[in-house]
Amino acid sequence: MSAVEPDVIVVGLGWVGGIIAAELTKAGLNVVGLERGPDHDGRAGAFAGSRDELRIRRLEHTQATDAETWTLRHDRNETALPFRRAGAFTPGTGVGGSSLLYGGMAWRFPEYDFMPRTAITARYGAGAIPDGATIADWGLSYQDLAPYYDQFERMAGVGGRAGNINGEIQPGGNPFEAPRSSDFPVPPLRDLGGPSLFRDTVRRLGYHPFPVPSSALSTDYVNPDGVARRACTYCGYCAGAPCEFGAKADAVVTVLPVARRTGRFWVRADCTVTEVLHDGGTARGVRYYDAAGTRHELRARAVVLSAYAFSNTRLLLNSGLGTPYDPDTGTGAVGKNYGYNFGLHSHALFANRRFQNYVGSPAIGYAIAEYNADNFDHTGLGFLDGGLIWTSNRAAGPLAGIPVPPGTPRWGPEWKRAIGRWYDRFVTVVGHGAVLPHRDHYLDLDPTYTDRYGLPLLRITFDWGENDRRMYDFMAGKVAGIVAAMDPDEVVPPAGLPEHFNTAAYQSTHNTGGAIMGPDPASSVVSPWLRMWDCGNVWVAGGSALPQGTGTGPTGTICALAYRAAHDIIRTQAGRRAA
Ligand SMILES: Cc1cc2nc3c(=O)[nH]c(=O)nc-3n(C[C@H](O)[C@H](O)[C@H](O)COP(=O)(O)OP(=O)(O)OC[C@H]3O[C@@H](n4cnc5c(N)ncnc54)[C@H](O)[C@@H]3O)c2cc1C
Ligand code: SF4
Repeated sequence: MSAVEPDVIVVGLGWVGGIIAAELTKAGLNVVGLERGPDHDGRAGAFAGSRDELRIRRLEHTQATDAETWTLRHDRNETALPFRRAGAFTPGTGVGGSSLLYGGMAWRFPEYDFMPRTAITARYGAGAIPDGATIADWGLSYQDLAPYYDQFERMAGVGGRAGNINGEIQPGGNPFEAPRSSDFPVPPLRDLGGPSLFRDTVRRLGYHPFPVPSSALSTDYVNPDGVARRACTYCGYCAGAPCEFGAKADAVVTVLPVARRTGRFWVRADCTVTEVLHDGGTARGVRYYDAAGTRHELRARAVVLSAYAFSNTRLLLNSGLGTPYDPDTGTGAVGKNYGYNFGLHSHALFANRRFQNYVGSPAIGYAIAEYNADNFDHTGLGFLDGGLIWTSNRAAGPLAGIPVPPGTPRWGPEWKRAIGRWYDRFVTVVGHGAVLPHRDHYLDLDPTYTDRYGLPLLRITFDWGENDRRMYDFMAGKVAGIVAAMDPDEVVPPAGLPEHFNTAAYQSTHNTGGAIMGPDPASSVVSPWLRMWDCGNVWVAGGSALPQGTGTGPTGTICALAYRAAHDIIRTQAGRRAA
C-alpha cells in the first residue's frame, strides 16, 4: 500500500492519537498521523536540556499562540479577546503533544462521574440540579470502561496501591475507588518528606490517604507491547517538561514506537489540519497545510480527531460537521458543555525542617478522596460535586514553585533572601475542583479573529460560577484544616478565585467538552464509542468527549476512552479493508 491513501487519518499525535495509531496499526490498518508541531521522536537527545527551568517557563512544547490562539469572553455580552500567551492552560504541540508535559498523575474516575445526573437526582432529588446546569450522564458506565483502564495502566506502567479489588477494600489504597480487577502493574513511587508529613497528618485527622497513581515508573518495566523503560531517577523536572529518561510514560516512549515498528504508520509532522472533508454523513479525508504553507488534501476511509478538546471542537465547527450548540435554544451539541478544573494551593512553611523538595516528580505524593465527587453529603452546602486534595513533590518546578511568607516583596533582594530561606522548608497542599457545565459556558467560532490561514479562532465563553465559588471556599477550608494540623511556622493561604476567570494564572490543562458523548444524538456529538452521530466514519477522541469537568485529573480516563474508541474503529474498519 502507498501511504498516500491510508485506511485511517489520525489528526494530532498526543496520548490519544498515539494510542489509537498503535492499536490500529497492530490490527493491520494503515494509518497516517498528521501533527501540527515537530517530530522529535527517535532523535537522540531530542529532549536534552529539558531540565532548564527557563526553557520550561518559555513553553517551548506548548501550543504557539502566535500561530493559533483562543479568544475568551466571560459572558455572552462581552466581546471576546485573544490570549496573547498560554497561561491558565498550556496544551502541548509536536509529536507527543501534552503527554510530554503532563505531571504524570494517572487517575481513574469514580463510578459517580459517569452518571452524575442520575446520581444527584437519586440522592438529592431533581430539584437539586441548579437552573442552567447542563450536567449529563455519559451513556457509559465505569464498568464499561474498566478493561480499558487496565489496558492503559499496563501499557504506561502506572504505579499505585489498589483501594478496591473486585469489591474488596484494600488497606492503604483509596477506599472510595471503583472496583479494579487487579492491583496496579507497579508499586507506587518512594515516599518523600513532604508527602509523608501530609499522609501522617491527614491520617491523624481521620482521612484515608493513598499514594497518587503515577505514570513515572517506580521500577524498571517492560509493558505488554514489549516496550522497556527505566525507573524514575527522582530528578524532579517533569512538570510541564518532557522526561529526558523516558521514565514518565508519554506517547513518544510508549505507543508511538509500537505504531512505527508495524511499518503501517506514517507521521507527517509540521502539518496543520484545517478541515475534515465530507459529504454530509461521510468523511472523505482532511485538508491540511504543511510547514511551507502548501495546501494538501488527503483521503482515507475514516478520520480520527485527537487534537485536544479545543482543536477537536474547532475542526468540527470549521468543517461544518455536526450541529453547533445554540445557547438560546439549547439545541445543537458541537461546542456545548465546556468544563474545567480549578486548582487551589496552600503552603505550610517550617523554619527548622527540610523536605528534599529538590527531588521527586509531581506525581509523588498522597491524596484523599473524602471530598471528591459525591463521596460526602452535599445537603445544605450549596454546591454539587467536589475534588481530590493531595500533596506532591515538585508540583511547579524548582524556582517557580517556591512559596514565601505573605507580605514578602515579589522581586528584589528581600524576595531572593526569602527564596533562599524557604526553598526546601515547605509542604504544598492542593485542592482540585470540578467545574460543572453550564448552559452559558461553551465553545464557538470567533466572529472577528482568525488564524494564519484566515480561519476563525475558537471562542471560549466561560467564567467562574456560583458552584465553583462555593466549592472553592469549602475545599479551601478543608485544606486550611490540614495545613494547620501540620503545625507550620508560616502559612501561605490559597489565592482565592478572582472576580473573573483569569487567562494568566495557571489552573490546569484539563479542558473538557465541546464534542461530548452521550446516549442521545440530539444532545451529544459522539456515541459512547466516540464515533460521531452525524458522520459515521469520524471518531472525535480526547477531553472534548467528557460531558463535564471532574474532581480528578482526566488523562487516565481520556486514554482509556482512546483504547475503547480504537476497539470500535478496528471492529468497523478492519473488515472493510481493501484486499
Ligand atoms: C503542564 C501539564 C500538566 C498536566 N498534568 C496532568 C496530570 O498530572 N494528570 C492528568 O490527568 N492530566 C494532566 N494534564 C493533562 C494531560 O496532559 C492531557 O489531558 C492529555 O495529554 C491530553 O491528551 P490528548 O491526546 O487528548 O491531547 P494532546 O496531548 O494535547 O495532543 C493533541 C495533539 O494534536 C495536535 N494538534 C492540535 N491541533 C491540530 C491540528 N489542527 N492539526 C494537526 N495537529 C493538531 C497538537 O499539536 C497535539 O500534539 C497536564 C497537562 C499539562 C499541559
Ligand atoms: S522525576 Fe522521574 S519521571 Fe520526572 S523527569 Fe525526572 S526521571 Fe523523569
